[in-house]
Amino acid sequence: MRSVSIFGATGSVGESAFDLLMRAGGADAFRTIALTGGRNALRLAEMARALRAEIAVIADEDRLPDLREALAGTGIEAAAGDAAIDEAAQRPSDWSLSAIVGAAGLMPGLRVAQRGGTLALANKESLVAAGPLLMGEARRSGATILPVDSEHSAIFQCLDCGKLDSVEHVTITASGGAFRDWPLERLPFASVAEASSHPNWDMGQRITIDSASMFNKALEVIETHEFFGLTSDRIRVLVHPESIIHAMVSYSDGATLAHLGPPDMRHAIGHALNWPDRAPLPVAGLDLAAIGQLTFRAPDEGRWPALRLARQVIDQSGAAGAVFNAAKEQALDDFIAGRLRFTDMAGAVEHALDIAAGRPHFGTSPADLDAVLAWDRAARRDAAGWSPAGKD
Ligand code: NDP
Repeated sequence: MRSVSIFGATGSVGESAFDLLMRAGGADAFRTIALTGGRNALRLAEMARALRAEIAVIADEDRLPDLREALAGTGIEAAAGDAAIDEAAQRPSDWSLSAIVGAAGLMPGLRVAQRGGTLALANKESLVAAGPLLMGEARRSGATILPVDSEHSAIFQCLDCGKLDSVEHVTITASGGAFRDWPLERLPFASVAEASSHPNWDMGQRITIDSASMFNKALEVIETHEFFGLTSDRIRVLVHPESIIHAMVSYSDGATLAHLGPPDMRHAIGHALNWPDRAPLPVAGLDLAAIGQLTFRAPDEGRWPALRLARQVIDQSGAAGAVFNAAKEQALDDFIAGRLRFTDMAGAVEHALDIAAGRPHFGTSPADLDAVLAWDRAARRDAAGWSPAGKD
């Protein structure tokens, strides 16, 4: 029986993975080692009971009494805090899903890579902030990393038919998010509620806002660079409002292979769960006649400065990814808290990158998690210190 762990089980991606596991036989088909959540102890306990997990870990230590009570009498271990998540990630499991949001997801993914497991990677921040470290650990231990982000899963699947060295470029698509068609002058006044509604995908709030600002696509451009080793000039972004084509791979002989599917994350998660095989998934088939037409447009970098910053980060390399990711997370926190306007997030991130570029060792990739987190902390401070008026 295959053993599995889910880090971030109570989130949007985690729930989709749970759904797939339950439909595929649940506790009778999988031996669940660890499930983790952030604050939602009761949902975590329900999932742990349903899958008869070995251990359930909640990041917020104040929620441990609730978790313990909800798991009383089941024999399932209950634990809390980052150290407990770390310990759970070190427990051997055949397949582990990294689906915690943000930099908090770095550590469990890195642990799975270090122990040579199969890591299904939804947490894009891992590759952005610590790509060389994560990929290096995977090479050293023989770990397999499978992309779960839909665009990277799409590239991965199109590459099955070709060789990376004959790839001319890849194209990842972007829906354009909530403000795709808003007049530019209205963008500074976009509210958190307006930014939290995605036209096509049903996702967590943070990634939904990042889709509206295109910071999500910027993260994915960097993720593509780290995962597939492509330089920034070989990674293109195309606005595709219908979100049916997720990515395309263009080969040197002029052929372009595209991956199409309805916008449902269970497709990419299921692909990673079943890989290298394919198995039926509970996702709708593609009815192109019903869709009628697919449309495309070039991204406007005036509207989405995050895309320019992504290329800058790839070209700078070294610690730039860790800085970019952390500054973006801080700017997003500040937007959600009402301290920054929607259009000011890019300014805060650029400011943090400018300051970091003047610090020693910026050009060197962080060698371990502590080094990544040191850049992360400094970048959050720098981004938080920025204001549009430049007074700080
Ligand atoms: P959600 O916000 O829905 O879920 C995040 C998960 O992480 C929850 O389980 C949450 O717990 C947990 N969590 C939050 N903070 C912490 C913390 N400090 N320590 C430990 N656990 C924590 O996010 P998504 O599911 O949308 O996204 C997860 C990851 O997958 C992100 O990196 C995202 O970029 C990526 N991704 C998401 C896609 C999507 O469709 N949603 C698509 C492609 C990639 P709790 O809810 O209990 O507080």
